[in-house]
Amino acid sequence: MPEGDSLHRAAERLRVLEGDVIAAEAPHPRAAALGLAERIDGRRLERVEAVGKNLLLTFEGGVVLRSHLRMRGRWHVQRAGGRIVGKPWLVLRGHRWEAVQRNGPVLELGALAVARLGPDIMADPPDLDAMVARLRAAEQGREIGDALLDQRLVAGIGNLWRAEALFLAGVSPWDRLDDVSDEQIRCVLDEAARAMRAPRSRRFAYRRAGLPCRRCGTRILSRPQGNHARLAYWCPTCQRGTGAAKA
Ligand SMILES: [Zn+2]
Repeated sequence: MPEGDSLHRAAERLRVLEGDVIAAEAPHPRAAALGLAERIDGRRLERVEAVGKNLLLTFEGGVVLRSHLRMRGRWHVQRAGGRIVGKPWLVLRGHRWEAVQRNGPVLELGALAVARLGPDIMADPPDLDAMVARLRAAEQGREIGDALLDQRLVAGIGNLWRAEALFLAGVSPWDRLDDVSDEQIRCVLDEAARAMRAPRSRRFAYRRAGLPCRRCGTRILSRPQGNHARLAYWCPTCQRGTGAAKA
């Protein structure tokens, strides 16, 4: 699942193509219909970056390919001219290497969507003050668990790290922003930034609904939250919350 950290690894792999003039193809009919390959083909790839949950490939002339991998998208890098199985969305062939993109991502050209992203949780160091400021500028009646997934406020926190960061900070996902202090918000963001960089961390909440909390033994609860009904996971004892707790 491409959470922020694996996206940074994908960007790292794709950097072998930086500086190359790219031959681009879109074998998948849905990707071909977008007309992206034609606009990239023959341009030099200047830069590959991971920003929030997006991979940004900047080509000469200011053409930016934005790839949001969602749950299943994959970039694979192989020797140029290698065998290509099936119909990937995009093949970017450089001098020695080629990158193959599979499994229906969002691919679009343009930097506009990215300009609206909040500060990146995987930046080094992450700008926690700017994130707190964005969260405070949002509608304060929003639940913090919902706000953390809003990429315009903080970029790069997915459902897994939302659940874990809120647990580690002892904050209920159902607390409204105006129920929590700046220190609590900062603590949640700090826990997210640290957990996402940890090599392997034990899960406390995510996908543990019905199991006993590893800290207090209370059963972990789970319930859809926000417009996209992403499942929130929380311990009603460790994350008691100040607002109306949902059970
Ligand atoms: Zn607990």
